[in-house]
Amino acid sequence: MTPAQQALSEYAPFPEPPALILDYIAARSAEDSVVDGPAPWDIGSLPAELLTPAHPWLDAVCRWLNQTYAWQPQDVIPPCWEKHQHLGYEVAALAFARADAHEAAGSTVIWHEQYERFLARMNRMLGKAGDECRVGRHQPRPARFQLDAWPPPGATEKAGASDGSAS
Ligand SMILES: [Zn+2]
Repeated sequence: MTPAQQALSEYAPFPEPPALILDYIAARSAEDSVVDGPAPWDIGSLPAELLTPAHPWLDAVCRWLNQTYAWQPQDVIPPCWEKHQHLGYEVAALAFARADAHEAAGSTVIWHEQYERFLARMNRMLGKAGDECRVGRHQPRPARFQLDAWPPPGATEKAGASDGSAS
């Protein structure tokens, strides 16, 4: 084997989805399916029995993306990815989409283009906090103060009613 062939042989394969997830996909897509659950990439809607195997797989996918594609520091998905809800959803979608995309060369090219757009969104959302998160110091969400301005659910109507009756 030449050094160039050796280098190619060291490419890590994409992590295999867990069997429970594959079974769930098969059950959902079967013609006479009785499974009417959420799409497995809709992680906010998944039951615990699917989230449990999904997390280590998505973590392996993040490691694989970092190892394979992260050449520049800003391309690295931070190790606290699951604390960033936007990353959780996006990584799940990218991971499931890869299997579909790799059935044809053209859609594989598109998957890579989508990965590029994922990186742009990740960096826009992480902002400066991303530098700290990437070296293992997770930062709280910069928008937390603005989000705190939202009253608790249902409080708006009560506040409106009391405004009307106060004076
Ligand atoms: Zn973080």
